[in-house]
Amino acid sequence: MGRTVVVLGGGISGLAASYHLSRAPCPPKVVLVEGSERLGGWIRSVRGPGDAVFELGPRGIRPAGAVGARTLLLVMLGGSWLQTLEARGSVLSQELFQQQAQQAAAAQLGLKEPPSHCLVHLHKNCIPQYTLGHWQKLEAATQFLASQRLPLTLAGASYEGVAVNDCIESGRQAAARALGSEPNS
Ligand SMILES: Cc1cc2nc3c(=O)[nH]c(=O)nc-3n(C[C@H](O)[C@H](O)[C@H](O)COP(=O)(O)OP(=O)(O)OC[C@H]3O[C@@H](n4cnc5c(N)ncnc54)[C@H](O)[C@@H]3O)c2cc1C
Repeated sequence: MGRTVVVLGGGISGLAASYHLSRAPCPPKVVLVEGSERLGGWIRSVRGPGDAVFELGPRGIRPAGAVGARTLLLVMLGGSWLQTLEARGSVLSQELFQQQAQQAAAAQLGLKEPPSHCLVHLHKNCIPQYTLGHWQKLEAATQFLASQRLPLTLAGASYEGVAVNDCIESGRQAAARALGSEPNS
C-alpha cells in the first residue's frame, strides 16, 4: 500500500512541504490539513478602502503587474513601543496606530503627504520571537523525535527562521526527512 504523509497547516511552510512531497520520484499520498477557510497563512492580500490592495503579512509577495506595483506601503509597529502603551493602560485605537505609522513614514522616508487609503490591523503574536535557549530546545525536540522513532517532522516559522524564504526551505527539508532522504541533498 502507498504511503500517506499528512501536512498540518497550509501556510507557506506546509505548502512548500506539500509541493516537495508531491514532486518526489515516488510521491506519497499528501493530505494537507488546514484549519481556516483559506490557504496561505500569513501571506494574505486584501482589498481595502478604494479597492486598494493591502498586504496583511509580508509585502514582498504581491500580485504581478499594475496591481502589485501599486500595492501600498506597509508600516509595522510594535515591540517595546506597544508594550509600554499596554502597560500604561492606553487606549489602542486605530487612529493612534495610523498617526504613529504616518509619523514613522514621514520621519524615516520623508513621506509627508497623508495616505489616500489606510488599513490598520492589530496582529498580536503574529511573528514568533525566539527566546534565549531556543536552539537548544529545538535540538532536544529533534533528538527526542528521532530517538523515539516518531513519524513527525517540524517545519515553519516557529522553528528555524521566520522569513518567507526560511519557511519555504524548512518545508523542503521537512518533506525530505518525511521521505527518508537527506535534507541537504
Ligand atoms: C505582518 C507580517 C509581516 C511580515 N513580513 C515579512 C516580510 O516582509 N518578509 C518575510 O520574509 N517574512 C515576513 N513575515 C513572516 C512570514 O510571512 C511568516 O513567518 C510566514 O508566512 C509563516 O509561514 P508558516 O507557514 O510557517 O506559518 P503560517 O503562515 O502561520 O501558517 C500556518 C497555517 O497553519 C494553520 N494551522 C495552525 N494550526 C492549525 C491546526 N491545529 N490545524 C490545522 N491548521 C492549522 C493556520 O491556519 C495557517 O494557515 C511577516 C509576517 C507578518 C505576520
